[in-house]
Amino acid sequence: MTKTPAQTLQSDLLDWYDRHRRILPWRALPGAPADPYAVWLSEIMLQQTTVATVKGYFARFLARWPTVADLAAAPLDDVLTEWAGLGYYARARNLHKCANAVVERHGGRFPSEEAALLALPGIGRYTAAAVAAIAFDRQATVVDGNVERVISRLHAIQDPLPDSRPEIYRRAAEITPVRRAGDFAQAMMDLGATVCTPRNPSCMVCPWSAHCAARIAGIAGELPHKKDKKPRPTRYGMAFWLEREGVGGREVLLRRRPEEGLLGGMMEIPSSPWTEDDAADGWSHAPAQVAWEAVDEPVIHVFTHFRLELDVMRGAMLGRGPVDGVWARLDRLKDYALPTVMTKVVKAARGKA
Ligand code: SF4
Repeated sequence: MTKTPAQTLQSDLLDWYDRHRRILPWRALPGAPADPYAVWLSEIMLQQTTVATVKGYFARFLARWPTVADLAAAPLDDVLTEWAGLGYYARARNLHKCANAVVERHGGRFPSEEAALLALPGIGRYTAAAVAAIAFDRQATVVDGNVERVISRLHAIQDPLPDSRPEIYRRAAEITPVRRAGDFAQAMMDLGATVCTPRNPSCMVCPWSAHCAARIAGIAGELPHKKDKKPRPTRYGMAFWLEREGVGGREVLLRRRPEEGLLGGMMEIPSSPWTEDDAADGWSHAPAQVAWEAVDEPVIHVFTHFRLELDVMRGAMLGRGPVDGVWARLDRLKDYALPTVMTKVVKAARGKA
């Protein structure tokens, strides 16, 4: 029986996947059932983060909380501390909320339907499709950045991202198979990660080479087009490193950021608000009136939407006057959920930058 163009693409890609699939810690071996908890955890961690970075975090999370019920029962602070360094802390809070929702609403078992997955905290369209397909082999269309690139090239889509997303999704849906939908989703991701790479795609070894419009037109490396991004603005602020001699050794003042907003609920070195006005008064936010001394270089940290420059001030408190925050032993700082920008402040203040 003659295959349709979609069936040809499906079988060519799945044959390639059977020979070249990546071995990843969260991925089930061929023929083995996938663990929905592992699939979901890895997909949340992999958003905006590389596979190499996620591997260590994934192993630690799974060793500490082997099931979704274990994760749900963990204190949020422990989850945030384990997450520290992965960035995007709203995801860690939603991860914890989602684990609780799976336990409360579904008895500790992830639902297999996209709609039910989508109703869980922190699960968007992409993650719902990925878990449905990879963990349960449901026919779901999974489109991440790799897939966007592959499909844009396969069809030589000229409209720039993000305008082209509806067309990319439609084209990807057309070729999503009924059988082996999970393998197909992972195969597209692997193809984008290892063959159809952003620069210099390896079209010679690509299973879709014969069908790829961008390769035939000689424009593979130019696609997908992207709309010009606005330049990232810079925000400024001050961070105040305040030490004192505690009962068990030197201590530094930490403060918890408000639950809502950037780095919500994370601990910080007390700082002024971060604003685009580089002349804003940061001093009125100092946690105490002491002799402050500036660290030579500001701490620079780049968030998704802005670049931050923090002037770091160092001071010592002699008495035991009241301050807003908690005193943390310097030798126990790693027990606190400090986001990456604050670990940079710690290094700068301690002269280890
Ligand atoms: Fe990507 Fe080249 Fe394969 Fe087309 S032929 S999908 S551009 S690697």
